[in-house]
Amino acid sequence: MTDRIFNFNPGPAVLPLPVLQEIQAELLNYKGSGMSIMEVSHRSKWFDDVLNDAVARTRRLLNLSDRFRVLFLQGGASMQFPMVAMNLALPGKPLDYVDTGTWSTKAIKEAQILGKDVRVVAGSKDREYTYIPETVPVNPDASYLHITSNNTIRGTQWKRFPETGGVPLVSDMSSDILSRVFDPEPFGLIYAGAQKNAGPAGVTLVILREDMLERVPADLPTMFRYTTYAEKNSLFNTPPCFAIYVVGLVLKWLEETVGGVAAMEDINRRKADLLYACIDETDFYRGTASPESRSAMNVTFRLPTPELEQKFIEEATRAGLGGLKGHRSVGGCRASIYNAMPLEGVEALVHFMKDFEKKNG
Ligand SMILES: *Cc1c(COP(=O)(O)O)cnc(C)c1O
Repeated sequence: MTDRIFNFNPGPAVLPLPVLQEIQAELLNYKGSGMSIMEVSHRSKWFDDVLNDAVARTRRLLNLSDRFRVLFLQGGASMQFPMVAMNLALPGKPLDYVDTGTWSTKAIKEAQILGKDVRVVAGSKDREYTYIPETVPVNPDASYLHITSNNTIRGTQWKRFPETGGVPLVSDMSSDILSRVFDPEPFGLIYAGAQKNAGPAGVTLVILREDMLERVPADLPTMFRYTTYAEKNSLFNTPPCFAIYVVGLVLKWLEETVGGVAAMEDINRRKADLLYACIDETDFYRGTASPESRSAMNVTFRLPTPELEQKFIEEATRAGLGGLKGHRSVGGCRASIYNAMPLEGVEALVHFMKDFEKKNG
């Protein structure tokens, strides 16, 4: 395994090594079926067990009460931008959004395309999306309040979720689901593309509170209705079987090897603290997010010049530290340190950063 790098890609992203090894071991003959899990029917006992196990593990890991449904959809987190608005908008009740950067902005745009009554009630555009708004006005007449719990591109993360009274919170948790403990009860809906923190690309986790299903309008096409997936346990049509299988293995790893979300949060905190301490130590590296809003998942930083940033990324790549380039829309550097990034990877990065600074600072 010496030829594997420390992979800081933002998504698709690093997967736990034991998961990849398990996939490899059962790829040709899944549990005595004589077939790969990719080749069995999605109506077979084999896949049924895979699906139900992934749902049960999600429930346990996130402490979901019976009121929540766990669904697996396709189309990525981006498909949820319009689906949320189509399904959860109540007649005469505006849709409230907080705009904390690219992904929130896209979610807002999709709701607007649908002609919905969209209200952007708070945001951080005024300071280039470098922070999370301290307070969010809560409008009791809103259909829901939509937030992006972790802003993958800008490296900011909500530390405390807004208190909304009875208004359901909706969150895009693509880049920090399963990374920390939170109370799911105020959430009407949570969605997350799996390819950051939960598995491979191709499947989107949707966690839905049962009362949200009552909102689904009757005139939506079948594949755009949450009720379709809820009524058929995500098996209305052929689901992304292999992706769900891998998500299941990641959940098993999180539950049985790591010891659950609280244990994971602890490790994630240590990784983030280590990296931010290195950034803060001198003026050579400069974190781009406001300290109180810093993400524990995506650590964004700059070097003194764009030339040094390019050199940093190239030399890091040669040293086996991949994926450190910032998003093309903002430049700079970004280390994505999702659940599957081991502490040793962050230690190796910090070691490299100190060394690079010594030579170039
Ligand atoms: C990556 C990402 C998306 C886009 O996900 P797709 O699955 O590619 O549509 C949306 N929101 C957040 C927060 C992301 O990190």
